[in-house]
Amino acid sequence: MRPLIVANWKMNKTPEEAASFMEKIAKYQEEMNPNCDIAICAPFICLDICVEKSKQGRIKIGAQNCHFEKSGAFTGEISAYMLSKIGVKFTILGHSERRQYFAETSETVNLKVKSSLKSGLDVIICVGESLEQKSTAQKIIFTQLELALLGVDIADLPRICIAYEPIWAIGSNKIEWFKRSGEICMKIRSMLGEIYDSPAAASLVKILYGGSVNSSNLISVLSEPDIDGALVGNASLVSDEFLKIIECARGVKRS
Ligand code: PEP
Repeated sequence: MRPLIVANWKMNKTPEEAASFMEKIAKYQEEMNPNCDIAICAPFICLDICVEKSKQGRIKIGAQNCHFEKSGAFTGEISAYMLSKIGVKFTILGHSERRQYFAETSETVNLKVKSSLKSGLDVIICVGESLEQKSTAQKIIFTQLELALLGVDIADLPRICIAYEPIWAIGSNKIEWFKRSGEICMKIRSMLGEIYDSPAAASLVKILYGGSVNSSNLISVLSEPDIDGALVGNASLVSDEFLKIIECARGVKRS
């Protein structure tokens, strides 16, 4: 699979700052590493300008969350359907920060996955354990996956990425754990086979790693055979560093 590099800007950047980032990236469009797919998950208020600025290029724009109802009395929310209408192509769902601070559960993630797919958005489902759950990580991840994918047809799996993000590695600069993460991503593949009772399910989904990825460790991350790409937080906020990360994926050989 082609490596996929996804920026998660979290709650950073005004529309003006987002526009300037997109313009800087666009300048390098011609020379940009052609061997990977690139996506940026921007705050809701920046999506419009990012979609506009990425029209001629190859960067896909995604959201960081959505509501599962199409419309209605849900003050402050934005639906997957609404996102699809402004040219957003996918959304992150179930990020640990949403689970931790906004009471997101695997059940609500499941509703959001189904509504996003129905609205035409692809999804990145985040799974991962906290430091306290480290010794039971596989059990935690299996439950998160099983619940998030409940009722999701196997035919929709190519539209789904799983991002394995150990919560303790996010924003921590703990780079020595990539080997373990590679093993967990391999397990995630076999869990998908088990959940769908089909070994084929494992190869239909891209698996990303997230947690302190930057231009100096991306190659180590992608050298793990079951990691197909990276979800990048902090290091994606500065255009030069994001361009470096994309460039680092140039040498990565994938079938
Ligand atoms: C994230 O929160 O999705 C993430 C990967 O953050 P960071 O790269 O900053 O660890």
